[in-house]
Amino acid sequence: MFLMIAAKTRLFVDHPLEKGQSVPLSRDQAHYLFGVMRLAEGDSVLVFNGSDGEWRAQVVEAGKRGGVLACVEQTAPQRNPPDLWLLFAPIKKARTDFIVEKAAEMGAARILPVQTEFTNAERIRRDRLQAHAIEAAEQCGGTFVPLVEDLQRLDKVLDTWPEDRALMFCDEMLAGEARALPNIKGPWAILIGPEGGFSKTERDQLRDMAHPVSLGPRILRADTAAVAALTLWQSKHGDWQS
Ligand code: SAH
Repeated sequence: MFLMIAAKTRLFVDHPLEKGQSVPLSRDQAHYLFGVMRLAEGDSVLVFNGSDGEWRAQVVEAGKRGGVLACVEQTAPQRNPPDLWLLFAPIKKARTDFIVEKAAEMGAARILPVQTEFTNAERIRRDRLQAHAIEAAEQCGGTFVPLVEDLQRLDKVLDTWPEDRALMFCDEMLAGEARALPNIKGPWAILIGPEGGFSKTERDQLRDMAHPVSLGPRILRADTAAVAALTLWQSKHGDWQS
């Protein structure tokens, strides 16, 4: 019984994975596996690196400050999410963490925090947010970890917007109106605004290039709106069917 539970421990490692490959562990990883999860030499753990699928690995060395795993067999192929980005304006810390965690679970491929005119946050801790995305992938059984980018200005991001990527502009002013997600195939991005909503200048810039979409009759908080928009997109264009 203990072994069954132990083999369910999933760990992201920044290391190539193939049969027989040994994987060195950082201090934090060793602490998690041997201190928290109480694994010992010979025990199994599932590992993934974001590109080589999921592997069962065995503990070869278990130390306080490090350790080594050995890859035994692949247990799941690499599975990448659809080509969907999430752009969102950072809000309070806990809610921003929530958005990143949910975006990783819901299958966003890239996460771009954007600074809008009415954004309160002036900086983010990119490494912290990336760690949240990794943790979410570890717990949801995913083999992919979305990259969290540094905070960028929304107007700058829109200035260099890739022509082939459709943009779903979640517009709170459309609450209650029938504005559905258009049926366009190919790469997409979702844009969620801050608590203060979008400014007139931002709306002007978005008008010609984005597809305004309503998320129903109620005005949602940004974190709820992010999950709702990801759900809507995934159910219409994403990987829920395959
Ligand atoms: N303070 C604003 C609301 C901002 S809600 C106001 O009262 O008007 C935060 C973000 O969530 C919005 O910028 C938008 O991107 C999204 N959002 C919330 N409710 C929405 C809805 N019903 N339709 C579309 N987008 C919505």
